[in-house]
Amino acid sequence: MKTINTDVVVIGGGSTGAGVVRDVAMRGFRAVLVERYDIAQGTSGRFHGLLHSGGRYIASDPESATECAEENLIVKKINANAVEDTGGLFVVTSHDDEEYADKFLERAAAAKVPAQEISVAEALKREPRLDPKLKRAFEVLDGSVDGWQMVWGAIRSAQAYGAQVFTYHKVTTIERAGDAVCAVVARDLRAGTDLRVECSFVLNCGGPWAGQIAALAHCHGVEVVPGAGIMVAMNSRLTQTVLNRCVWPADGDIIVPDHPVCIIGTTDLKAEDPDALTIPSDQVQQMLDAGEAMIPGFRKARPLHAWAGARPLIKDSRVAANDTRHMARGMSVIDHKARDGVAGLLTIAGGKLTTYRLMAERIVDIMCEEMGEKRQCRTADEAVPAASDRRLYTIGHRLESIEHSTTTPHHDHIICECELVTRGMLENTMDLLPKGQLDDVRRQIRLGMGPCQGGFCSQRATGIAHERGDIDSLQANELLTTFLKNRWIGLWPILYGKQLRQSALDNWIHEGTLDVAHLPQPALDTDKEEGQ
Ligand SMILES: Cc1cc2nc3c(=O)[nH]c(=O)nc-3n(C[C@H](O)[C@H](O)[C@H](O)COP(=O)(O)OP(=O)(O)OC[C@H]3O[C@@H](n4cnc5c(N)ncnc54)[C@H](O)[C@@H]3O)c2cc1C
Repeated sequence: MKTINTDVVVIGGGSTGAGVVRDVAMRGFRAVLVERYDIAQGTSGRFHGLLHSGGRYIASDPESATECAEENLIVKKINANAVEDTGGLFVVTSHDDEEYADKFLERAAAAKVPAQEISVAEALKREPRLDPKLKRAFEVLDGSVDGWQMVWGAIRSAQAYGAQVFTYHKVTTIERAGDAVCAVVARDLRAGTDLRVECSFVLNCGGPWAGQIAALAHCHGVEVVPGAGIMVAMNSRLTQTVLNRCVWPADGDIIVPDHPVCIIGTTDLKAEDPDALTIPSDQVQQMLDAGEAMIPGFRKARPLHAWAGARPLIKDSRVAANDTRHMARGMSVIDHKARDGVAGLLTIAGGKLTTYRLMAERIVDIMCEEMGEKRQCRTADEAVPAASDRRLYTIGHRLESIEHSTTTPHHDHIICECELVTRGMLENTMDLLPKGQLDDVRRQIRLGMGPCQGGFCSQRATGIAHERGDIDSLQANELLTTFLKNRWIGLWPILYGKQLRQSALDNWIHEGTLDVAHLPQPALDTDKEEGQ
């Protein structure tokens, strides 16, 4: 077994782990991050895409609202390339009473969430598809955030400060020397070998899996409740602004414009197992109905894809054990020295993707205190590498760069027409992810995320990987079929109308011309790839 040595091991490569490893490395510690799959493949890749203004929580969780409001401004600065500054509206539709709205400004002010009321005429001018019988509207600072860009930005920043990042490494053991943690063993799921990382501190950022990870150090009973929610992406930006229904937090009360699509969500139900989330068709219908309340005709738009994620909620004794909708969204750090007598181990859960940087600051501050070290957090003051020279993300930037490019479109082929992915972009990403699945590539450059859901680009991308010599023909078969299988998970729950016709065409291409169901496959030697 290969053994390496470091100061701090961070477990989990979601937004929290990425923020934490960045903070640890920026404070001058040697750091290693281990993630069982790809970066941001857990909850942080299966969320709603909202950079919260805090408005959603002013009544239900004012402390989280304040944290979101403060971090919103910081994330827009340090992760500029991942955030679109769409702004947001809280709207009282003709289906809602005005009781909640009457206290909106007062509660927002108390939680320090910037908000102001605008006229219904102004709201309808900005968003003409809104319910024409709208009663009231409040403007807030919501944004749209690309979780993968944000998380990878933090990872690259950490790497620039010397951190080592191991993806597809699943932690199987946390070793102790007496009462203190001393090493972590992770299984390399691709090579089938073990990596042992000796360390003096372990930071457990395992999201909804944090309880399972703590148990590896014999710290049992850490109750992280998976609050599952589904979301549906619609084919176009039916709104340019984030739309929130001005009611107590409820199912399907937010629509977020995201790149060329918009996303309606979400539900909130306790899941038994965060690795076995489902997308029930009645919940899809519930989302479409909820969309209709804000945007009449929403149901007639074309759904592209559905997915589910599980919030890592800390069990809240104020509400019933399965009432995840009303559990607090705040972050918690569990000190296992105080709780279980195990030194050198902290667990963090709760919080939001929006507050990822603050979560990191909190847990690393506690770690420094326990180590007796005084090292200042600097993550709010320095942009991540890709963001430092970029303005906030703008929709249409790919088209703009292709139009202004001297090489594209004449020399650089478009591989994915829906998302304007060029061959150059694809190959650059393949270079960065040597053994990557097409889903790993998708998370970086949105390959196959548009209307055809990989119907045309998947075989082109597979062909390019094969032509480059990255994979042999059996591996090419596996690459293609794994990607299509994963796309299908989010397609079957929304098969109606135009997307059903699209799926029939895709199926004809893949089954009719390539007979994908019967392509020979290599012997499987890795854990099953999962994805949305
Ligand atoms: C439906 C839904 C909608 C949401 N919408 C929003 C939103 O719009 N805005 C917002 O700010 N927040 C939103 N959130 C909340 C936000 O997504 C989460 O709070 C955040 O992504 C959690 O990040 P995390 O890093 O803590 O967990 P995760 O992203 O789940 O990361 C944990 C990681 O640990 C890894 N792991 C697990 N076990 C092991 C192991 N044994 N070894 C190594 N690695 C392991 C997992 O693979 C995973 O990648 C939403 C959440 C849900 C569920």
